Amino acid sequence: MTFETIPEYCFKRHSALVGIVVGWGQNKRKGGATRWEAVRAAMQQWNKVRDTKGKSIVSLYLTTGATDSRVIYSNYSFPKIGYTEHILRGDEILGATIHLASTEKWSVGYSPGCYDIQTVVLHELGHMLGVAHCHEDGSEPPCFSKTCESNVMNPYVSPGHIKRTFQEYDTASYIIIYD
Ligand SMILES: [Zn+2]
Ligand SMILES: [Zn+2]
Repeated sequence: MTFETIPEYCFKRHSALVGIVVGWGQNKRKGGATRWEAVRAAMQQWNKVRDTKGKSIVSLYLTTGATDSRVIYSNYSFPKIGYTEHILRGDEILGATIHLASTEKWSVGYSPGCYDIQTVVLHELGHMLGVAHCHEDGSEPPCFSKTCESNVMNPYVSPGHIKRTFQEYDTASYIIIYD
């Protein structure tokens, strides 16, 4: 496949270990899973991606300690389900805040009219790690990526839609940053 990287997104992380605080409690949702576990599951998906030499790239983990990175519900005025705010030093990512819209309904797993936390956090963690959207250049979807609609890093998501499977676009775009 072909892919391109947008230079502004080619960040380098300083450390392979990233502790992330989740700004809400471990309250059980339908199905028994917690929102907290949904975030952890998304982290583990990125943790499993290996570089071209088969080595681990990053280790994201949940923490309650001091850290620059967090996932929180936020009330903001622009029409986005979630977004990621980096803390940068030059082109190095020191940390990031992942904002999820507090005005939307969230679920762990499929629920009509709700956004699946794991789906959206998986996408936002991609941004946290420096991965750009496909068709970031403003072109209309579907783009150069044959799997455009299925890409975790496709910029669109719908309520009640589960998209938790990495496509080659997602992992290749990630690996090239850290290679
Ligand atoms: Zn695309
Ligand atoms: Zn995005």
